[in-house]
Amino acid sequence: MLTKTRLIKDLKNILPRNSVLTELEERYAYSQDAANTPDIKNIADAVVFAQNTEEVQQTVKLAAKYKIPIICRGAGTNVVGACTVEHGGIILNFSRMNKILEINRQNMTARVQPGVIVGELQKQAENLGLYYPPDPSNLAVSTIGGSIAQSSGGARTFKYGSTKDYILNMKVVMANGEILQTGSNTIKNATGYNLGSLFIGSEGTLGIVVEATVKLIPKPQTRQVIMAYFDRISESIDAVDAIIEQQIFPTTIDFMDQNAIQTVEKFYPSGLLTDKEAALIIEVDGFKNAVEYQKNVILSILNTAHASAIQSSSTEEEYNKIWQARRSSMGACAKLKPNVTTDDVIVPRQNLAKLVVGIRKICEKYNLEVCMVGHVGDGSVHPQIPIDYNNKDEYDRFKKAKSEIYDLTANLGGILSGEHGIGSLKRDYINLVVNPLALEYMRTIKKTFDPDNILNPYKIF
Ligand SMILES: Cc1cc2nc3c(=O)[nH]c(=O)nc-3n(C[C@H](O)[C@H](O)[C@H](O)COP(=O)(O)OP(=O)(O)OC[C@H]3O[C@@H](n4cnc5c(N)ncnc54)[C@H](O)[C@@H]3O)c2cc1C
Repeated sequence: MLTKTRLIKDLKNILPRNSVLTELEERYAYSQDAANTPDIKNIADAVVFAQNTEEVQQTVKLAAKYKIPIICRGAGTNVVGACTVEHGGIILNFSRMNKILEINRQNMTARVQPGVIVGELQKQAENLGLYYPPDPSNLAVSTIGGSIAQSSGGARTFKYGSTKDYILNMKVVMANGEILQTGSNTIKNATGYNLGSLFIGSEGTLGIVVEATVKLIPKPQTRQVIMAYFDRISESIDAVDAIIEQQIFPTTIDFMDQNAIQTVEKFYPSGLLTDKEAALIIEVDGFKNAVEYQKNVILSILNTAHASAIQSSSTEEEYNKIWQARRSSMGACAKLKPNVTTDDVIVPRQNLAKLVVGIRKICEKYNLEVCMVGHVGDGSVHPQIPIDYNNKDEYDRFKKAKSEIYDLTANLGGILSGEHGIGSLKRDYINLVVNPLALEYMRTIKKTFDPDNILNPYKIF
């Protein structure tokens, strides 16, 4: 207790007055994230709003001195409890370190602070004819720091890859307050170990990103999206394979099942066809002629693959309407019950149909509703399960279903997270898919980087 009192006094001494929150309500508000777990056991001792790298270093040095946990927070939208506070500590909030420091057209790079909103970077890059492809569905609020730490992906991963493919260089504050530079601002780098890759997806457990240089690419000239409906789920999955086998390279191949379609239409009417069992959302982008060519090939494949209805965009407004519907699925699902959970299991695509059908069966067995969406081009599925955490019986059934979904994923050669991360919610299951020696090496790396276990402790494993 005395330690925490001293820590707070020191924080208030070294940081500007309005940068440290210590009231109970304030600490409570920042101790939860979008995982919205009912099992909050502890809250933060203080919330710090860092304004620059020096303030981050000073805060980390104090945390190191008192051996108090330090948990970074971007927008708090991760869905795996990666920002939750299990043993007290400092929440280090990056919403004030939100500057795009440079967009370099010649190098095709951007240098950003960690609190920059992903969608804002995309907008600024696109104004200059450049493109930052990683697109978590909630890119309007999620931050670069959070998306690096969770190795976020999105619908465009199919063609362009995910966050990890765009991070060239980072400045990272280590557990002792020193600054490490992970690489260089060059497009290639074969100079020593790729330290950057250790921090990407490390969920704030190895170091604190205070600046990142990201790669940009030329902005595609145009884009169009097709929404194809199917009377059977199996036909929609077969269509995914048919498109890929034709060596057409869409930007996205996303999926919605009937529950997702109906739920979106109920709460955010978008003109979706609610009598269909499944829909694929297929985007193509590039030069105008290439887009037209790809679109026509895809339409002909879809007809052969038994698509029973097709909507497609010819204007930006129609494009946005289709994507808005797909991106609303979690928000819509959240309206069915007081809480909603999501997941991001992923399998080799050849096992995708078994995963989709298996998840539905498991949810039926435990009498749970499920709205399924996913980036099926990657083999990734998001089962969104609305639930009432206050209903103990339902929560118990949900936990059993979740465990069976992870077993199924592992048995199909898959992995627990393609893009959301592990956090605290999935750590008990990580040994299903990561071999014991790999876990031992991960723990050794954690100890080397953070010997006192102060950086977001007990997340991932
Ligand atoms: C509606 C909805 C849709 C979503 N869709 C997608 C999707 O399509 N694809 C996807 O990948 N994810 C998705 N997510 C999950 C979430 O958006 C991502 O995990 C996101 O990138 C997190 O960003 P954030 O700024 O909210 O990070 P936070 O939740 O604040 O933090 C995430 C992790 O990053 C760490 N962290 C934050 N800043 C730093 C830093 N500067 N240095 C070191 N560590 C740091 C935190 O400690 C924590 O471990 C979705 C979430 C919601 C709620």
